[in-house]
Amino acid sequence: MVNQGPHVVVIGAGFAGIQASRELARQGCRVTLIDRHPYNTFQPLLYQVATGGLNPGDVTYSLRNFAGKHPGVRFICGTVTAIDPDLRTVRLEDGRTLDYEYLVLGFGVTVNFFGLPGVAENALPMYTRAQAIACRDAVFGRLEHYAAMPAEERAGKDLHIVVVGGGATGVEMAGSLAEMRSTGVPNMYPELDRKRVKVHLIEAGPVLLGPFDHQLQEYTYDEMVKRDVDVRLNTSVAEIDAAHIILKGGEVIESDVVIWGAGVGAYDWARGLGLELGRGGRIVVDQMLRVKGQDRIFAAGDCSIIEDQALPQLAQPAMQMGVHIAGQIVALARGGQLQRFEYWDKGTMATIGRNAAVAEIALPGRSAPLPFTGFIAWALWVGVHLFMLLGGRNRVGAMINLGFRYIAWGSNTWNIVGDLKSPRRAKRVAAETESGADQLS
Ligand SMILES: Cc1cc2nc3c(=O)[nH]c(=O)nc-3n(C[C@H](O)[C@H](O)[C@H](O)COP(=O)(O)OP(=O)(O)OC[C@H]3O[C@@H](n4cnc5c(N)ncnc54)[C@H](O)[C@@H]3O)c2cc1C
Repeated sequence: MVNQGPHVVVIGAGFAGIQASRELARQGCRVTLIDRHPYNTFQPLLYQVATGGLNPGDVTYSLRNFAGKHPGVRFICGTVTAIDPDLRTVRLEDGRTLDYEYLVLGFGVTVNFFGLPGVAENALPMYTRAQAIACRDAVFGRLEHYAAMPAEERAGKDLHIVVVGGGATGVEMAGSLAEMRSTGVPNMYPELDRKRVKVHLIEAGPVLLGPFDHQLQEYTYDEMVKRDVDVRLNTSVAEIDAAHIILKGGEVIESDVVIWGAGVGAYDWARGLGLELGRGGRIVVDQMLRVKGQDRIFAAGDCSIIEDQALPQLAQPAMQMGVHIAGQIVALARGGQLQRFEYWDKGTMATIGRNAAVAEIALPGRSAPLPFTGFIAWALWVGVHLFMLLGGRNRVGAMINLGFRYIAWGSNTWNIVGDLKSPRRAKRVAAETESGADQLS
């Protein structure tokens, strides 16, 4: 390493960890970046992978390339299982131990099934690349299975794809599935009646896109209904089996594929780190982003919560916290003072489908963000997401794939093909892939 500054270990190469590592290295620190995957994942576009719009490689970026481009950063692929603040060490699942002078926690969160019966076994989450591929393979697997049924058997059955959770993930997924049903299915599966492929969106609360302005929530609801999505608000899941969703209240919905976007929670291993935890098991940090009770450990992004100021679990807070922490560590190492973290809310957005999105953009001099819907919001969404992707090649790849789908709308080259799996097999394969990073020998 060319840098001579303090050795900082960064756990997690997501939005927070990447920003922190880049800035720390730029300021002369020696950075060891650890992630359980060999790539950074751009989660906001995973739903496009899950619906055959993008290739998995378009939304993931090699962390070895990242380290190669940033002198002062070395990358280690491994899963962290423990830290020891007294000895200042980090332990990996394969037994390796690393020393640190400062530690940055940026390992994000994972899916939360809320302990509901059958959900962990039967619903597909979408937080990693392997899980997005599992969703894609399960959706296309069920379509192929449906198409292979004898016509008389199929006549008595609809195909049900159910998305649980009416936040941005669920809305984007359901919107994309609805477009696949109306545009992709007629071309790819001429033997199927697209009206018999049902897309359901289940939300426990009274609105879609909870944190957004009311007008944007209503627009989203109307657009979903226009796309023939069966939206059920104030509806909670009680249980899921291999072919049904049982709602609280007793109603049963048929389900061939269930995609779970209903909530996130802390990793079990992180709950056992001995650090103070706040809502949702998030690690409590002070206004300087230092972990409560620790002088050399900082936390950023989804895995953290600032006391008295819970920020949304989104990319922008994670990125800004990562950059701020880098500055804090450099200041500490030089004997300087820590600075309070001030979040700059630039706004938020979610897409519904072609030419339809919602965006709230913060503009200087305005106390409330400016709401946008329709094509303008959609164009903003596309521009921001392509800009935020890591790596020029990924940006070009994503632009070509999204652009192609836009231009060739309704043609028979609509989707990127994957493998075909039953939902349970897709889930199993994803789980094996996730653990594979630690089974290299
Ligand atoms: C499907 C989906 C869509 C989303 N859409 C949007 C959107 O449109 N806009 C938006 O602002 N936000 C969106 N979000 C939220 C956003 O992606 C997160 O808020 C953001 O990724 C948080 O960044 P982070 O750095 O805290 O964590 P992450 O980006 O999750 O990164 C955590 C990293 O830590 C690694 N890791 C985890 N555990 C370990 C371990 N034990 N050892 C080593 N490494 C580990 C992971 O592999 C991962 O690379 C979306 C999230 C999802 C899941």
